[in-house]
Amino acid sequence: MTGRVLVLGGTGEARRLATALVADGVDVLTSLAGRVADPALPAGEVRVGGFGGAEGLTDWLRAHPVRAVVDATHPFAAVMTASAARAAEVTGVPLLRLQRPGWSEQPGDDWRWVGSLADAAAAVDGFSCVFLTTGRQGLGAFAGLTAHCLVRSVDAPEPPLPARTTVVLARGPFTVDEELALMREHRVDVVVTKDSGGSLTEAKLTAARELGLPVVLVRRPPLPAGVPTVATVDEALTWLRAGLDPTTSVD
Ligand code: NAP
Repeated sequence: MTGRVLVLGGTGEARRLATALVADGVDVLTSLAGRVADPALPAGEVRVGGFGGAEGLTDWLRAHPVRAVVDATHPFAAVMTASAARAAEVTGVPLLRLQRPGWSEQPGDDWRWVGSLADAAAAVDGFSCVFLTTGRQGLGAFAGLTAHCLVRSVDAPEPPLPARTTVVLARGPFTVDEELALMREHRVDVVVTKDSGGSLTEAKLTAARELGLPVVLVRRPPLPAGVPTVATVDEALTWLRAGLDPTTSVD
């Protein structure tokens, strides 16, 4: 396969894709936002920091030609995903969106879907200990809560935070037993999560089901129109292999 591939990263899928491409001898550059102080680094080359919106990414792609871009950012990284779609449209660089499927409700679940973090804050009114697993960004939406809040994130969250907050610094994946122990220790009575999907952070949903706790799930932002989208690293590799073969073209 020929040509450099830019992977917009920050997810396990992006790291697995980079590993597979490096193993195939493909020149891979993964881009990270730089939000996490000590990120898990992918194979291949890495650049860190924003591009400066869709225009910045357009300029960057013109200055650093790549064969294709794979947007493997988190399902909730909607700004980066929109910038990638716009920059690909303007430059004509082939773009693939790699996004893992969302979670699906199982028997015994009590899931309450909401459209935003603000709606999630409203949905937990009346509960006494809210387990906030939405990440440290956007916690301001919960700042007005008077309930005890358990916040878990990789790096320390910044204010504003709910008045009665316990912070647990930890990086997943977590086992169901670990999640059960944490929820029992803090007497959690509701869990809040984004519909991130994937197995790495799924244990909290299993634990909530076992404990009979409601889960408030924030719906994903919509995918950009007109961008081919796949759900797995294998599908992304198939798309790239077809397009990176000099005898074929990518649509
Ligand atoms: P976002 O709101 O879509 O992005 C905000 C800005 O961060 C973008 O406009 C872009 O800056 C920069 N950025 C985001 N991803 C980038 C990347 N891979 N490479 C270079 N710049 C990037 O995204 P976010 O929700 O803040 O997420 C930031 C990163 O954390 C993403 O890489 C995402 O995959 C990862 N992540 C996010 C979540 C989540 O819940 N949102 C969870 C786990 C991991 P410019 O406009 O200057 O280019």
